[in-house]
Amino acid sequence: MDCLFCKIVSGDIPSKKIYEDDRVLAFYDIDPKAPVHFLVIPKDHIKNVLEIPSKKLDIVSHIFKVIQNIAVELNLNEGFRIVNNCGEQGGQTVDHLHFHVLGGRNLGWPPG
Ligand code: 5GP
Ligand code: ZN
Repeated sequence: MDCLFCKIVSGDIPSKKIYEDDRVLAFYDIDPKAPVHFLVIPKDHIKNVLEIPSKKLDIVSHIFKVIQNIAVELNLNEGFRIVNNCGEQGGQTVDHLHFHVLGGRNLGWPPG
């Protein structure tokens, strides 16, 4: 399957890794939108939130635990934002489930 993030998981495409375990990978976004901008993805190919099988939904709580740990490590104690873009209107450009974590500056609301 021709999936960019699957290639990052397999190491075919290099990434600046922050954390990895048997189920997830966290790495810095190549085009950061904030001083801190990283992505957390499941290693399994899941297209997006609409496509997470019910029996695999626990990956989401694991991803949030990993985000918690990294946020502490990176001193994001003043706050940060978790973003998931789902589908075309949601602005998803890579069809492999991912959660953005943005921090290190005041973030505007609402998004454009
Ligand atoms: P989306 O728009 O699908 O929510 O987010 C995709 C994100 O992946 C974008 O923020 C984009 O900068 C990032 N991205 C695209 N290609 C690469 C890549 O090859 N390496 C890394 N580290 N990030 C990428
Ligand atoms: Zn994939």
